[in-house]
Amino acid sequence: MNGFRERFARFMIGRYGMDRFGQFLNAAALVFIAAGFFSRSRLLDTAGLVLLILCYFRMFSRNIGKRFEENQKFERIRFRFSETIRKWRFRFQQSREFHIYQCPSCRQKIRIPRGKGKISIHCPKCGNDFIKKS
Ligand SMILES: [Zn+2]
Repeated sequence: MNGFRERFARFMIGRYGMDRFGQFLNAAALVFIAAGFFSRSRLLDTAGLVLLILCYFRMFSRNIGKRFEENQKFERIRFRFSETIRKWRFRFQQSREFHIYQCPSCRQKIRIPRGKGKISIHCPKCGNDFIKKS
């Protein structure tokens, strides 16, 4: 067992190894293969296999600079994606807790907490008062 680990460690010298993009490819491959298994779809199966091969190809690759660059690109996309999700979630929470009203005279947007019944709103910009149901 130890011999195998040692040989594997020697084999991996100078090779790229695992990164976040590799983990993502590996996870995506497993999802595709599982989906292919349950739906008996050859297409999903094959897509999973291709992703798995790509994952191993990157792991054993000696072109470390190129693989590092790919991972950087992946991280940028992942960051943009998670930021978009975060923004959506924030907007959704806000829309559940607050109403956005517009001042009828100056069009200033005013954020009012929901569920307070009929309230008088004082516009901070032009000083106009108006009544709305929150
Ligand atoms: Zn106003």
